[in-house]
Amino acid sequence: MKLNIVCIPGDGIGPEIVTEAKKVLNKVAETGGHEMVFTDILMGGASIDVHGVPLTDEAIETAKVADAVLMGSIGGDTNTSPWYKLPPEKRPEAGLLKIRKSLGLFANLRPAILYPELRGACPLKEEISVKGFDMLIMRELTGGLYFGERHTVEKDGQKVATDTLTYSEAEIRRIAIKGFEIAMKRRRKVTSVDKANVLDSSRLWRAVVNEVAKDFPEVTLEHMLVDNCAMQLVKDPSQFDVILTENMFGDILSDEASMVTGSIGMLASASLNDTKFGLYEPSHGSAPDIAGKDLANPIATILSAAMMLRYSFDLDKEADAIESAVDKVLKDGYRTGDIMSEGCRKVGCREMGDLIAERI
Ligand code: NAD
Repeated sequence: MKLNIVCIPGDGIGPEIVTEAKKVLNKVAETGGHEMVFTDILMGGASIDVHGVPLTDEAIETAKVADAVLMGSIGGDTNTSPWYKLPPEKRPEAGLLKIRKSLGLFANLRPAILYPELRGACPLKEEISVKGFDMLIMRELTGGLYFGERHTVEKDGQKVATDTLTYSEAEIRRIAIKGFEIAMKRRRKVTSVDKANVLDSSRLWRAVVNEVAKDFPEVTLEHMLVDNCAMQLVKDPSQFDVILTENMFGDILSDEASMVTGSIGMLASASLNDTKFGLYEPSHGSAPDIAGKDLANPIATILSAAMMLRYSFDLDKEADAIESAVDKVLKDGYRTGDIMSEGCRKVGCREMGDLIAERI
């Protein structure tokens, strides 16, 4: 299979971690008989330095004709970098918002996995962490409260601020279908999270999710109120497979789920549109404090590349191979500095990439 992949190395540790992900993908291509064509584009600070803007229209066009986009991370030190003296629409993060919008990426996927070898980093009690967990938060990314109409007016001598939360049936249906499709590739359980005891938008959410569920009889569906879900994530995270939810609830719950893993350098993510196209990136930022020192953990980016093979190319076997190579490296006791623990061998970003590629 020929895979046409656009890469965005970005800023800070971005170029280092993307190099390691390419190394692993090239090994997958070699062993699986695939052809991978990588084309780099500039985004974030790297693009500002060359073009004066965080993302050019030409770069967007290049991304649009690719099969998928693999990104490192963008941005610099927000206190010291000259990029943050620019107006907001010219700063590095504006590039990310622009590419998400231009590519119609409405579904955000964030897996939160507790690896047995990294259990020590989990902030939960041992009786909970011992069960492990492997969940995926599926968040609607382009609707709801963050995109609704908003205004602040003066009324009876005081300011009154209003935000609106709107969802259409079509917006809910397309994210629900994605959620069920992805559950079919996993343990076939969907927990749909809403606030249907209070919000009309949540009652519509629940009704549409129930309708979509009829087309996926092998998937078990449950509904959970968002406040209960926030509690269950720390009480018994092992109960979850796919959590399907709207934009703001997903924003908060995905950060909570990330935190309970305790290892930011391990967390992958994907943003998908309604075709097979997606943008894949680690959940962490550009870590300017460790950039260029061979200290970064490339695993989140390598696992994002595995998600890309699974969700954009349906190469499940190849994605499994990357995920089990990561498992093996951890079992063999290799760690980057951020996940280091006693008795393990500390390695840099490059060596971690080599070790994972060797195990494909
Ligand atoms: P960060 O995630 O970059 O770093 C937080 C801490 O975690 C730092 O101590 C860093 O060294 C460490 N860390 C992060 N990733 C690591 C890895 N792979 N290996 C080892 N250690 C790692 O968050 P921040 O410092 O708040 O933000 C830095 C820059 O990143 C900012 O400009 C911010 O806007 C940007 N950012 C970008 C994205 C993105 O590209 N999607 C996401 C979040 C933040």
